[in-house]
Amino acid sequence: MSIQENYHYIKNRLPAHVQLVAVSKTHPVSAIREVYDLGQRIFGENKVQELTEKQLELPQDIQWHIIGHLQTNKVKYIAGFIDTIQSVDSEKLLKEIDKEAAKHNRTIKVLLQVKIAEEDTKYGLTKDESRELFRQSLNGAFPHIAISGLMGMATFTEDKEQVRKEFMSLKELFDEFSHDKTLETLSMGMSDDFPVAIECGANSVRVGSAIFGQRDYSV
Ligand SMILES: *Cc1c(COP(=O)(O)O)cnc(C)c1O
Repeated sequence: MSIQENYHYIKNRLPAHVQLVAVSKTHPVSAIREVYDLGQRIFGENKVQELTEKQLELPQDIQWHIIGHLQTNKVKYIAGFIDTIQSVDSEKLLKEIDKEAAKHNRTIKVLLQVKIAEEDTKYGLTKDESRELFRQSLNGAFPHIAISGLMGMATFTEDKEQVRKEFMSLKELFDEFSHDKTLETLSMGMSDDFPVAIECGANSVRVGSAIFGQRDYSV
């Protein structure tokens, strides 16, 4: 199927309340432009250099999301334009984003990335670490940051019940936080598991290969 067909296929499977982040990492500007021309405005990338290069060549009304681990020393390169940083996994990173956002006189939206997968994953906060950062934020610790939700990745497995269990555990945390402050975004689900994520309460999904095709890391 073509990118256009893929895009329409995915869009048709998403309920109206679910936001689509089109994950364009490794794919060329021409492919992003194709999806942009179909009306898509939110794109996700995971590498700062790749993102900044693409951002310069593409329309300025794209809302860019960073979805991969972000090193603190790279925040400065994206702070002027990034819409949402979905992968906040440390207090140090949160402080750095706050500092750089202040320099640009902006408020940057972030999602706390929570470790929900049973498999050993490198990045992500524990639930308790998330609670602590959320509490600090409610107390005004990061004036140039809006914590607008949570992000999580399930274990890479065929076992849908396992995946469902992990997504549900993030939904529980999201509901817990929502007692103190209305959160906009629960970002869970990728090409292979977004239908399950939506059943579990996701209102934002990050879909790459099901739109753009397989990624080729060899080039
Ligand atoms: C690459 C990536 C995606 C998209 O994955 P697909 O399986 O291609 O849809 C989603 N979320 C994160 C964090 C990613 O790194």
